[in-house]
Amino acid sequence: MPTPPAQHLFHPAHTDQYVATMRLGVDFLASSLGRVSGPSTGVRPEVAAKAVTDVDLDRPLGDQRAALEEMGRLWLDDTVWFHEPSYAAHLNCPVVVPALLAEVFVSAVNPSLDTYDQSVGGTYVERHLVDWTAGRIGYGPDADGIFTSGGTQSNLQALLLARDHAIATGSREARPPEMSGLRILTSRDGHFSVQKAARLLGLGDRAVVTVATDGDRRMELGALSRALAEVADAGLTPMAVVATAGTTDFGAIDPLPEIAALCEGYGTWLHVDAAYGGGLLVSPTRRHWLAGIERADSVTVDFHKTWFQPVSASALVVRDGRRLGHVTWHADYLNPREIGGNPNQVDKSLQTTRRFDALKLWLTLRVMGPDTIGTYVDRVVELAAEVAEALDPAIELAAAPQLSTVVLRYRPDGMSEDEADRLVPRIRTTLYERGRAMVAATKVDGRHWLKLTLLNPLATSDDILAITRQIVEIGEDLAAAVAR
Ligand SMILES: *Cc1c(COP(=O)(O)O)cnc(C)c1O
Repeated sequence: MPTPPAQHLFHPAHTDQYVATMRLGVDFLASSLGRVSGPSTGVRPEVAAKAVTDVDLDRPLGDQRAALEEMGRLWLDDTVWFHEPSYAAHLNCPVVVPALLAEVFVSAVNPSLDTYDQSVGGTYVERHLVDWTAGRIGYGPDADGIFTSGGTQSNLQALLLARDHAIATGSREARPPEMSGLRILTSRDGHFSVQKAARLLGLGDRAVVTVATDGDRRMELGALSRALAEVADAGLTPMAVVATAGTTDFGAIDPLPEIAALCEGYGTWLHVDAAYGGGLLVSPTRRHWLAGIERADSVTVDFHKTWFQPVSASALVVRDGRRLGHVTWHADYLNPREIGGNPNQVDKSLQTTRRFDALKLWLTLRVMGPDTIGTYVDRVVELAAEVAEALDPAIELAAAPQLSTVVLRYRPDGMSEDEADRLVPRIRTTLYERGRAMVAATKVDGRHWLKLTLLNPLATSDDILAITRQIVEIGEDLAAAVAR
């Protein structure tokens, strides 16, 4: 048997090669970054697909530089750059450099955070961060939590805990009869991962009761109170209320103290989905917007959104850590019950092998401190307000910004609702194809709108207003073409 080639393995015998490779990569990335002139090139899907599918994966290039150059051509040259001030589409953030430094260690050392014997001190790094986040939420000493892959998984796990808390035998028995009576209440602007979780948890679509929102698109308390009463009167169980702290479209923060009081009255699990608004936990000036969050049973925080961390980094934090026991499973080879005592994070997680994503937040906090992150959050919230104040009269605003989104459309005086509606998707496509700005689209009450999600603390209101001017210009051109 020939010996397998060793030089590709991360190993002290190849430290020089490792260092040279990483330098090559960092230099390659830096020079790509230097050539960026917009948030994307507007490449069309069929063109992007062909460049990739033409590659014969059975014929390696055998050379790192050649492979990087190929990767550049088929992906990086056309990628979307979230640091560009004219990227204002989804909840992607520009990332902080201390977190990128951590990534070097996360992937090379490659610990898995499932058991102590695979991560050692990493377990405590994660635990300390969870405890610190719990402290920021305002939880007491019984709190606990776990890093997850994202808000979707955090919400799923929260609802799993809520379900099994509602029926003590939830995960252990195949669909006990009580399960069909469980209901989850969330506002009509709650994240779709709540519906997905209901399906995954075997509760089905009808388990989710959507609650109306008020004029500010926050959950309407009267509607929640009526929905809770209706569920209870029908002999069903209000298993959980999912309040959102920062809805994805409007950044609305549901009235947490009042919702908590209603939940306490029914003994209902309150989950706060702060995937977006969680950055307010470190805001030097706006932390009070989350007042009442400490009364939730569980909270989702996405560090990869308003904490400027690379994907993926999220956490589920619970007020009473014992409730995480609903996901505990003992495997003889991993975390046998008899040995006990070892701090095994797998006992609290839906995942087994799990990245040491916590290290990114750790180095971020140790280098920059929480206030700097919070200042970034403050800045993007201010930016949204500044932009909304200074919009061209041909731009219509769906609602005043609450966090850092601005939902708008081109609709000059006299343009009908129908015509404005027809133009929105075409304006967005044209904007993308020009490659000079990227915005998102959404629907509000059945109509098309554009959405700017502002997460770049370096973007200025001039940068963002330049995007809205392009929207007006494209809108004028398209409207004139329709008229001809
Ligand atoms: C983004 C988002 C999620 C989903 O989080 P992922 O990290 O994308 O899985 C859930 N809830 C809200 C309110 C969000 O904005």
